[in-house]
This record gives sequence, structure tokens and C-alpha cells, in this order.
Amino acid sequence: MTSTVSTSFTLIPNQKYRRSSRRSKPFCNTVNTDSESLSTLGNFKALPLEIFQMVLKYLSVKDISMLSMVSKAISNRLINYISTSSGNRRLLLQDFHNLEISGKKEGSCVLEHYRSLGLLLKRCTLLLPTKDRLKYIHKILSEVSCFKLSGCPSPLHCLGLQCYGVFLQILTAGWDELECHRVFNFLCELSNLPRKVQTVVSRKPGSARKLELRIRLFCRSVLLNHWIHRSDSAFWLTRILKPWPMVNQARLLYIIFGPVSSLNGHVVWQKMIEGPTDETSLKGLADAIKLLYDTEAKEWTADDVISLVDELSVVPREWLMENNARLLILSGNNICFTFMASKAVNGRAVELARLVVFLALVCEKDLYCMDWAVKMMQKVCKVFSTPGERNNFLQSVENAFAHMIMDMLQSVMSGDRDEEDSSFLNLFHLVNAQANFHKEILYLTMRSTST
Ligand SMILES: [Zn+2]
Repeated sequence: MTSTVSTSFTLIPNQKYRRSSRRSKPFCNTVNTDSESLSTLGNFKALPLEIFQMVLKYLSVKDISMLSMVSKAISNRLINYISTSSGNRRLLLQDFHNLEISGKKEGSCVLEHYRSLGLLLKRCTLLLPTKDRLKYIHKILSEVSCFKLSGCPSPLHCLGLQCYGVFLQILTAGWDELECHRVFNFLCELSNLPRKVQTVVSRKPGSARKLELRIRLFCRSVLLNHWIHRSDSAFWLTRILKPWPMVNQARLLYIIFGPVSSLNGHVVWQKMIEGPTDETSLKGLADAIKLLYDTEAKEWTADDVISLVDELSVVPREWLMENNARLLILSGNNICFTFMASKAVNGRAVELARLVVFLALVCEKDLYCMDWAVKMMQKVCKVFSTPGERNNFLQSVENAFAHMIMDMLQSVMSGDRDEEDSSFLNLFHLVNAQANFHKEILYLTMRSTST
């Protein structure tokens, strides 16, 4: 035993350590004895806790998270540090609202910070069971009101939920499905998400606009946006949708992925009903449908997804068929064909024929190859079991073209000045669509007769 001050790291009174380990109360059962924890502190055991924490101030969050992997004792000290008010102040940045002033870079800086913090807490809590881990982490984060579903006064201009999302993504990366189920349940309990979803789906669409917006932002920013693998996104989307009956799933899908107003972020419920819409308004919905259909999301059969698409087309009332057709095109060949085939099997030839005409119209308007629409019709023809049914369907397609052209012509002739342009344009597109559609059929027929 030495007594010189200069080399006397070991001389720092033992009491100091005892005090420090008493402070690590929530986890003191993991720090059984002073001697055990001291032996894994290495040279840091020379430092009183206060100095240790001062040193931490000079380390980046990434470095601290590296340090946490050194030993259990160090990791416990770091957990203590995170819970202190100075640790809290430093680690829980709440600079979520300065997007305009600081520009994009600053925003990504906060996100980056929470990514590192996620890693730090992941590493520090590595040895705890999932439930305790979540509780502890929640305790740390519960101070941040912008992480709550309805916690931020200005949710459209806030990066809080996104930061929470990247934090959770890093934290749960590599966790198995059972643990992720736990995380979802835990988040539901904290945010009261199921209750809130119940409220919006049981009311008239748009009657709880602000709540719809909150749910949309929470689901997207926290639960859906940050996954790297599509299978993870599908897992989380399934968690959100599956507890509900199909009707509510469709409504919820529209709330989360449907078109919103650029002014206030509110869901635009009339978009699919009042007039032809554009691809951007439908893209979110189409991508979500594709996600459920494509990824081997075990919990969804093709039938489930098709029923969901069907249900979606009456949210909140029956959509214009042009918008339906556009959604199907954006959802990809497989979904489009399966949807149409299910109509064919159920003998809904007339409805199906109208859909073919609208697919042709959208191809014409949105500049897709008309060849695609013809091939799709050809494929669907094969679903009909008898030549009679097939001919009846083809006849219905031609009738649908004729009826729609007559209808549009009538509205052009009777329309007032304002409307004239748009109905004339529609008629123009439809006539061209018909011409192009039949041109492709002629090509196809001539090719097959000439070979
Ligand atoms: Zn906020």
C-alpha cells in the first residue's frame, strides 16, 4: 500500500465508490459488489464519478456508446450519467422546430444525434430483458413531449416523431419478431394509439381532422418510415392494420397514405370522388398495397390484399373509376391482374369492361404504353371459362367505350363555358385512348395471322 498522492489512484477513499454505486440504484442489482464493479472499471476507477461524468462531456455520443461496451461496470456508470440532469440536457436534444432557420442540414443533424443515442441506449441496456429495457428507455425519453402522439403544438413543422422513429429503428434492429411485437404493444400502450384509431374510424371521415393528422404522422414517422428492409416495413404496417376489420383497415390506410392538403396536412377525403386525380395523390396508397402484397408478409393472402383494395375504393364513398384504374396501374401488374381476375371469376363482366376502358384512358392520359392495357385484357380473357363468357366480356368492353364516349359528348354539348374545356379534353383523351387501344389489337392480330 502506497501513500504518495501522485500515484495513489487506489487511495481514493472507498466511500466514494460506494456512493457512486448507490446512485446507480435502478441497476444496483447488476453491480453486486464494489470490488466486482471496480475490477472492470480499469483506470477509470481512479476517477470519482463527478470527474468521470465531466470526461464524458468531451466525448461524442458515438464514442460514449463505444465506451459502454467495455464492461458492465462502465455501462452502469453510463446509465447513471444518462439519468442525471446534465446527461439528460446534453443527450435529449429538443431542437426539433428550427427547420426553416437552420435548413435541412441541421434537421439531419438532430436525426443523426438520435440515431447515435439509439445505439448508446441499445448498448447500455443490452443485458436487460426486453420489457425492462423498454421501461428504462421510456423513462429517459418521457421528458420529450414532441415524441408523444399528441405532444407537439406544431406537428407539421417538427422533427420530433422522426427522431423518435430513427431512435427506435436503431434500438430494435436485429430484434426478433416476438420482441418487436412487445415493442409495438408497448408503444400502443404509451400512445393510446388503438383508442385514437377507434375514434377516427368510427366517426365520419374528416370530422376529427386533427386527430387523423396526428395518427398519420405518428404511424409514418415513428412506426413506418425508417426501416431499411421492406419486410420490416410490412411487419409494422401489418401490426397497425391487422387488429381492425377490413373496412377500418381501408379507412386507416387512407388516413396514413392518402392524399393530404399542402396547406394544413389534413387528409383530403374528397380527392378520389370529385374528379380525376394525379399519380402523386395515389402513390402512397399504391406503395402500401404493394408492400403488403409483394413482401412475403405471411399474414396477408392475395385475397386479403385484393379485398382491401376493393374496400379502399369506397372510402369514404365510391371513387371515380378512373382513380381506381390509376391506383391499380400504380400497384403493379400482379395486383392489377389479380383484382381483375377476381371480378371475372365472380361474373362481373360489365364492371370489368368499364375498368378496361378506364385503364386504357389512364394509359393515354398518363403516357403509359397502350400495349400494356391490351395485354392485360388478353390475360383477363383467359380467366373466363367458356368462349361465350369471353365474347360477352369483349362485347361489353366495346359497349363501354361507346357509352362513355356518348356520355362525354353529351356533357360537352350541354356543358357551360367553364366546364367545356375539361369535358372536351376528357373526350379528346378517350377517343384517342380508344384509337390507340384498337391499334394495338390490330397489331397483335395482324402479327399472329402473318406468322
Ligand atoms: Zn415538436
